[in-house]
Amino acid sequence: MSALWDTHCHLTGYDRPTDVMAEAAEAGVTIVAVSEDPGQYRMLRTRLGRRPGVVPALGMHPLHAASFTPADLARFLRLLPDAPWIGEIGLDFSPAGRPSRRAQLRIFEAILSDPRASALPLTIHSRGAERETIEHLTQAGASRAILHWYTGPPGLLEEAVNAGLWFSVNPTMTASARAQRLLQEIPPDRVLLETDGPFTRHHGRPSRPSDLPALLPRLAALWSTDEDGARNQLNANQRVFTPPPTTP
Ligand SMILES: [Zn+2]
Repeated sequence: MSALWDTHCHLTGYDRPTDVMAEAAEAGVTIVAVSEDPGQYRMLRTRLGRRPGVVPALGMHPLHAASFTPADLARFLRLLPDAPWIGEIGLDFSPAGRPSRRAQLRIFEAILSDPRASALPLTIHSRGAERETIEHLTQAGASRAILHWYTGPPGLLEEAVNAGLWFSVNPTMTASARAQRLLQEIPPDRVLLETDGPFTRHHGRPSRPSDLPALLPRLAALWSTDEDGARNQLNANQRVFTPPPTTP
C-alpha cells in the first residue's frame, strides 16, 4: 500500500511531535512538515527532519511578514539548496494580514524570483489574496505549487486549475457543505491531502497526519468511486506531483 502524503502539517505545533510521527508511520502517512521561519526550519531539520517519513519544508509565513528582517530573508535563501520542499509561504490579505501586505509581497516575490525556489514543491497560503497569489505563481512559472486550504471564490479556482496549480484538501474542508461544493470544482487529478494540523479539527480534537486515511471515504463519495479508487487517484497524483528519483 503506497503512502498518503500530508503535504502541510505544522509538526512542531504538537506537544509531542514524535508521537505524531509514530502514528503517521503506522497509518502509512508521509509528513511534509512546514515551517514558519528559517530558524524553525533549521530546528525541524536537525531534530525531526532526518527521520524517514518526514520531509521538512522551508518557510516564511505571511502572517509573520511584519517581523521579518532582511537577514531572515537572506537566511531563507542560504538554506534553499538544502530544502526539499518550500512552505509555508504565500500571501494573506484577510484582516489579520492586511497591515503587512507590502512586506508580504516583498518576501513572496523575492522567494519566487529565485529559480531554485520556484522549481521546488511549494505549499502556499493564499487567504484573502487568492488572485494575487495565483498571478505571482503563474508569473514565476511555479509548476509544483499547491494552494493549501483554498477558501477563495469558485471563479478563481478555475483560473488556478488552468494555471496548473494543485490543491491540498484537509479534514475541515471535507466536513463543511460550502467547502464540499468547492471541492466538486477541483479536478480529482489536482488533489493532494493535508491536515494543516494541529490547526484543523477532526472528531473534535486537533487533526493529526494519521487521520488522513479517514478522508478516503469522503473523497470516494465525492469522486463516485470506492476507497481504493480514491487512494489510487491520490497515489497517482503524488507521483505526478513529485516523480520518485530515478536510480541510475
Ligand atoms: Zn499552515
